[in-house]
Amino acid sequence: MPHLSPQQSRLQDDIRGLIQGEVRCDEIARQLFATDAGILERRPCAVVWPRHTNDVVACVGYAAERGIPIHPRGAGTETSGASLGEGIVLDFSRFMRRILRVDAESVRVQPGLIRFRLNTILNRLQQRCFGPDPGFMSAATIGGILSRNGAGAHWLQYGFPDEHLLDLTVVLANGDVLTLRRDALPKAIAGSGGESQGIALARQIVLGKEFPLADGVHQILSETPIQPGASIFSVTGAVPHRCGYRLQDVLQGSEKTSVDLARLITGSEGTLAVIVEANLKTVSAPNRAAAVAFGFNSLEQATRSVPLVLPFKPVLCELVDRRRLNMLRDWDKRFHALIPLDAEAVLLVELDAGTVGQPLEPSEIRDRLDQLIETVAVREKLCFDCLRIERTEEFPLFDDFLHNAELALYRMRRSFQAIPLLNDLAVPVETLGGFVGDLLNLLHEHEITASISGHVGQGHLCVQPILDFSSPGLVSTLQRLTEEFCALVWEHRGTISSEHSTGLLLSRLVPKQCANHFPAFRKIKELFDPDNVLNPGKVIPDDGNWTGFLRQGLSQRSRNETDESVDQPGEVGFEETGLPDQLKLQLKWNPRQIAEPTYRCNGCGACKQLGRSVRMCPFFRRRPEGVMSPRAKANLLRGVLEGNLELETLTLANSKEIADYCFHCLLCRTECPAEVDVSQLAARCKAAYAAAHGLSTADQFFSRLDSLLRWFSLISYPINWMLTNRLSRWLIDKTVGIPQGRKLPTLSKISFLGRTQWSKRFAPPKPTAEPKVALFIDTFGNHFDTKLTELAVRILEHNGMTVHIPLRQRASGLMSYAVGHADRAERLARHNTMLLGDLIRQEYDVVALEPASAACITKDYRSLIDDPDGELVSLNVVDFCDYLLRLHEKRRLRLDFQPIRKTVGFHAPCRSIANGSGRVDGTTPAQELLGLIPELDVRRIEEGCCGMAGSFGLDKKNYRLSLQIGLGLFRKLRTKEIDLGATDCSSCRMQMEHAVAKPTLHPIRLLAFAYGLTPEL
Ligand SMILES: Cc1cc2nc3c(=O)[nH]c(=O)nc-3n(C[C@H](O)[C@H](O)[C@H](O)COP(=O)(O)OP(=O)(O)OC[C@H]3O[C@@H](n4cnc5c(N)ncnc54)[C@H](O)[C@@H]3O)c2cc1C
Ligand code: SF4
Ligand code: SF4
Repeated sequence: MPHLSPQQSRLQDDIRGLIQGEVRCDEIARQLFATDAGILERRPCAVVWPRHTNDVVACVGYAAERGIPIHPRGAGTETSGASLGEGIVLDFSRFMRRILRVDAESVRVQPGLIRFRLNTILNRLQQRCFGPDPGFMSAATIGGILSRNGAGAHWLQYGFPDEHLLDLTVVLANGDVLTLRRDALPKAIAGSGGESQGIALARQIVLGKEFPLADGVHQILSETPIQPGASIFSVTGAVPHRCGYRLQDVLQGSEKTSVDLARLITGSEGTLAVIVEANLKTVSAPNRAAAVAFGFNSLEQATRSVPLVLPFKPVLCELVDRRRLNMLRDWDKRFHALIPLDAEAVLLVELDAGTVGQPLEPSEIRDRLDQLIETVAVREKLCFDCLRIERTEEFPLFDDFLHNAELALYRMRRSFQAIPLLNDLAVPVETLGGFVGDLLNLLHEHEITASISGHVGQGHLCVQPILDFSSPGLVSTLQRLTEEFCALVWEHRGTISSEHSTGLLLSRLVPKQCANHFPAFRKIKELFDPDNVLNPGKVIPDDGNWTGFLRQGLSQRSRNETDESVDQPGEVGFEETGLPDQLKLQLKWNPRQIAEPTYRCNGCGACKQLGRSVRMCPFFRRRPEGVMSPRAKANLLRGVLEGNLELETLTLANSKEIADYCFHCLLCRTECPAEVDVSQLAARCKAAYAAAHGLSTADQFFSRLDSLLRWFSLISYPINWMLTNRLSRWLIDKTVGIPQGRKLPTLSKISFLGRTQWSKRFAPPKPTAEPKVALFIDTFGNHFDTKLTELAVRILEHNGMTVHIPLRQRASGLMSYAVGHADRAERLARHNTMLLGDLIRQEYDVVALEPASAACITKDYRSLIDDPDGELVSLNVVDFCDYLLRLHEKRRLRLDFQPIRKTVGFHAPCRSIANGSGRVDGTTPAQELLGLIPELDVRRIEEGCCGMAGSFGLDKKNYRLSLQIGLGLFRKLRTKEIDLGATDCSSCRMQMEHAVAKPTLHPIRLLAFAYGLTPEL
């Protein structure tokens, strides 16, 4: 267990005694919750994962007694430091994330539930959804959304979250639990000033616990003139700004004595109460029928078009600027279709098409779309290009584009980074064009560039200045810019906060923006939370200056991208640590290699999303808890690099646990906008732990499996018998840790390499005009499915290749890498790199039988060894199916296939996605090859990872989780239409055949059969 100071220990023990949930006060937990998706950092004293409302009550009571602040937290994707602080973080995303009840038109949920998950379930059950979508769509939690009450991208369609709230259950700072119903608002007593205490008590008993609050709020608001002129959005007549507490419409009824406390608490950023349950209205899922992407020559033209768009009933109107467009083009080729060349800005507009229950007439929608295009493109000639989106199958691309546009700036490399400083301002729609012009002038004066995008349909703009984090004057530039930007926003009657929290970053500006209402805000805070326990420093600012909380590593991130000099140990914060030599040796700290991916993580939280357009991270998707995410691993390493955590921390079980929630699928490396190689970071943590404690028996076994199998194959008969015998399987379970229930493949009598020794392929081929292929086969193809390897060779030969099997090849080392056996992985990497490098120089095409081995050689080796041949090998080794597809593209693949009349459910292995386009809905080479076989019906099953991941699913401790991760895939594979499964990874194949009583074949087998190279499938 991590070391705790006496105070930490006491705090942890105290809270543990009070709650059924979990609590941690150690440095690791504090480090993981010290940041959100923004640029600030504050370390909490404890992290609590409440299981139910009573835990929250106990925790708040305990904290209030001792004056310790409480910081409620959902997914931690806010960018303003809204959930950060030095008190106790209450993380709802782990246990309190259930749907409690689904009714015909409402749903009761816990606050840690991710909105995306809620809507996936509602859509499946009832074709309904929770409408408002403020926040990072596929990661934000309901608690995070309600506590901000921001307008989302679909504000034009759904308005604010509080309009969709039926009741809210909250825990107050004094520990009271209130359920605040919207249909029975608590009443205050108008003019009750001189009432005796007895009468007040009697009223409280009759009127409920909320009476004193309702009465207090009523008094405060009665004395405060609420500015009706807050309606800054004259085109729509509504007010999408949320800075400070929301005072409008809190007093209800003809006499204004009913007090809508739920409305007041919604949007209060966790400073008035902690939300523990919400009953939300649901709406029929939207019908989607018409959208358009306009291309503009300038940002001003794009923003000037917005008032013209609004009369056509858009449900969404989004601006994407050139910077993001450039990033999007690079990110995904499919987006080229939506981005006109030379566009300075794109405006995406989707029109109201009714709901799935009550769709609008197609002709009416089409007419509106025609008129909209006529107005913007033809009559006003504001845009130079437009693309209509009207077919159902076009909307996923439209959605992906919008989604990735949010993340695009996180792809920026090098020292300049986009800073989420004023990423949430809004001005009246009709002044947008003028405002953008003034803003550009201001930026020009300061010689600063910025990305300017946003939900412009409601006047929202996300302005992110692009600054050099390593510049010495960064802080003063940030301060100056904030002041001047805000002044400009206010000059244009705008708001600095329209949907995000003001958090630690902007709360000090709340008194300026809301000068008239601020005294009332303060009184309300004192009424609800007199001791300032709930999320202090937010909305009502405290004395702390946010510049003091800037993330330490910001400048480091920049330096790592540019500065070669950090190669020297010590430059990134390593001091002599007094650790045993063995540990230092094993860690092999090349600071640059570790610091580079660590600091590349900007905390954006994209690896915490549950959407369908990504697969990462299989662990987090199965258990959406903070510690499971790739971000947690990067945060752990960042803590070590910055000296918040001692190097020794990596030798603790808690660190190992975090690292073990990674089976090196490489998806985050390809799907994370910043392309952070979290797999490498996890491998290093595992190696550090192994250096200090050694490997477990199971890990020893898996790491050395390739060597052991050489001996085992000498006694393959008894071994195979043991694998089917219950008693011996029980023994294996108890000793090696391979679960008894796991189906295991049969060991080959003689390994493929052993057999090859006697065949002609042993000898290096004579010089020949034919293309030469050197086949890298790895452990499975060598010791288990040798028939598959044989067929692979025959396919290559059938296509005119001369195949050479390099006998000196060794296992790829992926199994060793994955369990933290770094030395061995490195040895294998060096050996194979030297061997394959030589073959490449002799003009061999080096082909790896499996995508996992190919990815290990081309990607993992780069982080393991610094070899002169590293780059050569990394650029030239290809996976088998990829190689065949390349032949096909060069028209060199024979297509003399006989038909196969079957329907296959194809599963794309994670490492195959990582090897290729990195997109879950992009086809993989194996899938495309199968598509060449006549009459074979190939249906891609995109339900994420299968959960096996090499040795991960073979280890008893992971068995259940491994099967749970693959559940979606298994369900689809079991459906009647699918005759058999197909996948190009042998470990996925094992898992699929284990879970589903249908054969799963490698594409090599199907191809070989179609070529007539094997009589049976
Ligand atoms: C790439 C990206 C894009 C984004 N786009 C948008 C956008 O378009 N619009 C937008 O509005 N935001 C956006 N955000 C910000 C962020 O996603 C939203 O603020 C989101 O709703 C926060 O949800 P969360 O679960 O992460 O909350 P957290 O960040 O964990 O917390 C946010 C606030 O909610 C409070 N809170 C959380 N749970 C509770 C609870 N149970 N009771 C009381 N208070 C609670 C916290 O104390 C904090 O003040 C974006 C962020 C990123 C990284
Ligand atoms: S790992 Fe990538 S996706 Fe996850 S928080 Fe870091 S940068 Fe974002
Ligand atoms: S490599 Fe895969 S398992 Fe590991 S953190 Fe990334 S997505 Fe998760």
